[in-house]
Amino acid sequence: MKILAVNAGSSSLKFQMFEMPEEQVIIKGTFERIGLNDSFYTINIDGAKEKKEALLANHEEAVNILIKELVNYGVIKSLAEIKGIGHRIVHGGDKYSSSVVIDDEVINTVTNLSSLAPLHNPANISGVKSFIKMVPDAIEVGCFDTAFHQTMDEERFLYAVPNEWYEKYNVRKYGFHGLSHKYVSKRISEILDKKYCNIIVCHLGNGGSISAVRDGHCIDTSMGFTPNAGIVMGSRSGDIDYSIIPYMMKKTGMTIDEIDKILNKQSGMLGISEVSSDFRDIEAKISVKDKKAIMAHYLFVNSVVGYIAKYYVELGGVDAICFTAGVGENSPHVRNMIIKRLACLGLKLDYEANDNMRFGKEGVITKEDSSVPCYVIPTNEELMIARDTYELIEK
Ligand code: AMP
Repeated sequence: MKILAVNAGSSSLKFQMFEMPEEQVIIKGTFERIGLNDSFYTINIDGAKEKKEALLANHEEAVNILIKELVNYGVIKSLAEIKGIGHRIVHGGDKYSSSVVIDDEVINTVTNLSSLAPLHNPANISGVKSFIKMVPDAIEVGCFDTAFHQTMDEERFLYAVPNEWYEKYNVRKYGFHGLSHKYVSKRISEILDKKYCNIIVCHLGNGGSISAVRDGHCIDTSMGFTPNAGIVMGSRSGDIDYSIIPYMMKKTGMTIDEIDKILNKQSGMLGISEVSSDFRDIEAKISVKDKKAIMAHYLFVNSVVGYIAKYYVELGGVDAICFTAGVGENSPHVRNMIIKRLACLGLKLDYEANDNMRFGKEGVITKEDSSVPCYVIPTNEELMIARDTYELIEK
């Protein structure tokens, strides 16, 4: 059965087509700069990558081209072969604790949740509507970034603010990157061959979040009401004292939107290093002993270690710690710094294994006598979407 996994952003649309249940990727690609000048798309098939320019005024035009290309590349003969289309949707609020078949009610609910994710939900829905129009017979499924974290208890998702803020305005911790946390915690449970286990998942990418998972259920996570909370990120500050905001507004005359933009786009690793939000650029500067780049790394590592320590205690000990996403999968240097700081808990890094574990490799990076094994698990959010979509169709 052919299933399409779709991730529609405000100006991009990524897709992967899977043959299910074999979980084999048939074709994948990305449409970029949708609605902007110089839009283009890339298609990857059979190990070859092709880039093409195209005028992409909106998501619908991208979907139109995508469908034509699936036929051109001989992946499908007719649209009827696409049985399911799974969509990544960033915010499901507290309405969805798992993936769902999309109908009018789901579209309305997700649209109404846009005030919680103004940049993401409208783009996700625009993608959904385009596919419904172009492939009306396929079953559309919504896979929410927030869903995996819906198992958190009130004592972990509530903020210590007046109850009315939660009851009337939905102010609470939601958590994000749920598809990745779910994929990695499931995968490590298979590797350990343990259904009942305590896991800490460190999703360290441009955005980053850490979650505490017990027996496959999330009990706590570092992102909050928005993806801005938690650890230091590429260009986001992560946790800060909220009083900084009114203080800086009074001191500089900046508006709340200007401050919001700085905390989102000019803070984190970029703000401290003054080099880049990209860890590769920062590591290049560290190799020539750039002090600000070194400081950015320290702040990042401190914030990650702080959450690991907190979740180690919350879980009452752990069976494994997993690293995933761009930085977690590819930076032995960052993992080394983090695991060294956890030596007080009995963690022992295997330097050689750590250095070799990158670029898509999966495996253990600690010594056999480490109190807790640490693993690198390359994440696969698209596969998670395809699995959920397939499961809902088969039901
Ligand atoms: P993601 O958001 O998961 O795509 O992760 C993107 C981030 O991963 C980039 O911004 C880089 O900082 C980081 N990254 C990717 N490859 C490497 C690498 N080889 N070494 C260090 N960091 C990397």
